[in-house]
Amino acid sequence: MENCIFCKIAEGDIPTDFLYESEHVLAFRDIQPIAPVHVLIIPKKHIASVNDVEQGDQNVMGELFVAARTVAKKLQITEDGYKLLIRTGVHGGQEVPHIHMHVIGGAQLTENIHPI
Ligand code: AMP
Ligand code: ZN
Repeated sequence: MENCIFCKIAEGDIPTDFLYESEHVLAFRDIQPIAPVHVLIIPKKHIASVNDVEQGDQNVMGELFVAARTVAKKLQITEDGYKLLIRTGVHGGQEVPHIHMHVIGGAQLTENIHPI
């Protein structure tokens, strides 16, 4: 998708170190980390949000979780734990309209999901 920053990362137009890559997904560090570990996992294919997941995307969506646990293991946070976050739309606070799963950990995390 043109002008999509995560499509540009997936296509190699923005040089990025990948922590994990499979047929359908990629993982890289968030540019503005909110915790010691903050990684984003994206499908290579442009899917704007959870609202745009279609029948046939099951494998891609499943790979997001395989990538999450692989990255968690690589960064040694499996035992202490972590959070996975997928923001959707305005109320969810989604800023980049290419679906992505945040892997957040490396420290004790607080809850912060209350309505404004
Ligand atoms: P969200 O609010 O869930 O849409 O999250 C978007 C995330 O993408 C934010 O945490 C940003 O810091 C992150 N981000 C934006 N641009 C880049 C980039 N070029 N490389 C890595 N992370 C990015
Ligand atoms: Zn995209």
